[in-house]
Amino acid sequence: MSSFRDQLIHSPLTITGYVGGTFLKPSPADEIPVIDPTTERRVATLLESSVDEVDRAVTAARAAFDRGPWRRLTVAERQTALMAIHDVILAHADELAMLETINTGIPLSQTRNVHIPRAAYNFRFFAEYINQAGGEVFTQEPGLLSMVTYEPIGVCALIGPWNMPLGLTAMKIAGALAFGNTCVVKPSELTPLTVTRLMERIEGVLPQGVINLVNGRGQVTGHALVSHPGIDMVSFTGGTVTGAAILTALAKGIKGSAMELGGKSANIVFADADFDRALDAAMMSSFMNNGQMCLAGSRIFVDRRIADRFIDTFSRRVAALRIGDPLADGTEVGPMINHAQRERMTRYAESGLSEGASLLAGGHRYSNINTGYFFEPTAMLAPSNDIAICREEIFGPFAALQIFDDEEEVIAKANESDFGLVGYVWTQDLDRSMRAAAALRTGTVLVNTPIVRDLRTGFGGYKQSGLGREGAKGSQAMFTEMKTTIVAR
Ligand code: NAD
Repeated sequence: MSSFRDQLIHSPLTITGYVGGTFLKPSPADEIPVIDPTTERRVATLLESSVDEVDRAVTAARAAFDRGPWRRLTVAERQTALMAIHDVILAHADELAMLETINTGIPLSQTRNVHIPRAAYNFRFFAEYINQAGGEVFTQEPGLLSMVTYEPIGVCALIGPWNMPLGLTAMKIAGALAFGNTCVVKPSELTPLTVTRLMERIEGVLPQGVINLVNGRGQVTGHALVSHPGIDMVSFTGGTVTGAAILTALAKGIKGSAMELGGKSANIVFADADFDRALDAAMMSSFMNNGQMCLAGSRIFVDRRIADRFIDTFSRRVAALRIGDPLADGTEVGPMINHAQRERMTRYAESGLSEGASLLAGGHRYSNINTGYFFEPTAMLAPSNDIAICREEIFGPFAALQIFDDEEEVIAKANESDFGLVGYVWTQDLDRSMRAAAALRTGTVLVNTPIVRDLRTGFGGYKQSGLGREGAKGSQAMFTEMKTTIVAR
């Protein structure tokens, strides 16, 4: 497996854009090294898409939307194309998982078993969904029909983050295409490998210009894309500050958007919870994906009656997590995405201590491995909900625990957050779970279950965690214009 990595280090890939059915020729663009966070070696060179190349990509998508066949295909024809992409992803699953792991540092067991199958499943899901997704018809009086139909919105700019590059971007691509749109995709400049490889693998599957790719930094390529007058909407997943900048750019043209932003999700463990399941889930929702998950449930509230046992067991398990090369069997936590992200972990550990939290596990740069942006999985016990480690999204293997005494108090604290993505509740009391689910100001509430995504439901956030929902009806709302036609006979 590491020979695959060695090969990339020996001959780094060249990452360019893909416009109107052809890969852009390497030009004297700005070169950005793409680094493997485990070895700190270059595995690819990204040739940044210029403003002119972004313009060409949007123009190609516009032409394909206005004059191409895509939005005029039958549902069955579009389903066939989506399923062809699904099949391509599964046929190249090993290669894509390996590229994802080398690029992100996320353990191969997770990219192979979760990220890549998930990326493929998005295409299957939307292929099946469009068979049933319809409009509505109302009658006001005999002979007067009010019809609501959903039409493709046009050219969609799809911008993804680095923490689940193919899986999250595939969700956007599949939804946009399923409803008849064309698109310009921009992955994170830190992690362009899998989305770019997907474009290579699906060449010829879609009519020319239906899908286009630009690669580059957010401030350059991303900004050019979201400011381009030829796009009709932006579907964005990333940080809240970036989301706000994009909304500002879109305001000028009154363009729509869907925003999947940050989180700081509360994970509430009541005394009557199934202790072992709650503990396993707390581990998973804090440390899976190296803790770099929007829906991490890493603000953990523990009922005082079980606090000693829970905190003690949790701390020991955090300290025992296996840190190492994400390509190696058995690795549970790999490196952070880059040096800056590791420094951020260090700063949060220091700020926790200076604001009165006590260190339960980790807290330092991991120094048993010479290269790589490793940080020890960390747990801290916080004295209050007001300190930075309980308020801000850390986006790394870092859990902040607090002790609570009663239900009202803990729900209030869980809701005391600028974010509102997910709320986790662990209790065997059905009434309490329903009360908590209703009271939590989050887009998703998970009761007695670790992270689950069900694409038939909507995923998205209250407050600063976003706008709009992804999945089924949410994606339909995001990627279509609703048209009302009233017909009198
Ligand atoms: P980021 O906001 O730094 O970057 C996301 C993308 O936006 C990248 O492709 C980047 O190049 C681009 N970008 C940056 N500035 C831009 C600009 N001015 N105009 C246009 N594009 C621009 O986010 P990140 O660090 O890649 O990802 C981590 C964040 O993503 C976390 O906050 C996490 O919570 C969030 N996230 C949310 C979800 C969700 O579903 N709610 C899922 C995953 C990640």
